[in-house]
Amino acid sequence: MTPPIEYDPDAVHTPVLTFRWVVRRNGDDAQYEASGTCPVCTCPMTRTWTFGQAPVAKGGFFGRREEPGAEPYYTVCQCRTLHMNRPASEPQGCGALLAIAPPPSPGQSAGATP
Ligand SMILES: [Zn+2]
Ligand SMILES: [Zn+2]
Repeated sequence: MTPPIEYDPDAVHTPVLTFRWVVRRNGDDAQYEASGTCPVCTCPMTRTWTFGQAPVAKGGFFGRREEPGAEPYYTVCQCRTLHMNRPASEPQGCGALLAIAPPPSPGQSAGATP
């Protein structure tokens, strides 16, 4: 067992992580779900992005893209572990900002071995 780590909003993990992507299609929308382990707190976490939907009138969704693209995805840790000193405004995570490698684009996955 490792000692519990404290919530740290300044933690940044710069190397791009490789998470497992699951894609769910729903009409014109595609939901991309990335699952993996946060390297800062070592907890499993999952983050979902949705693509294809036009921005909603109420200011739209922050960070929404039309399609996945090739850039890394940034998210704060979304783990469900209770980390010490986590502010009430943050329902989950350890506060670390993570960069996740984008999902493989359709058509390029054939024969690709990591
Ligand atoms: Zn974390
Ligand atoms: Zn955690």
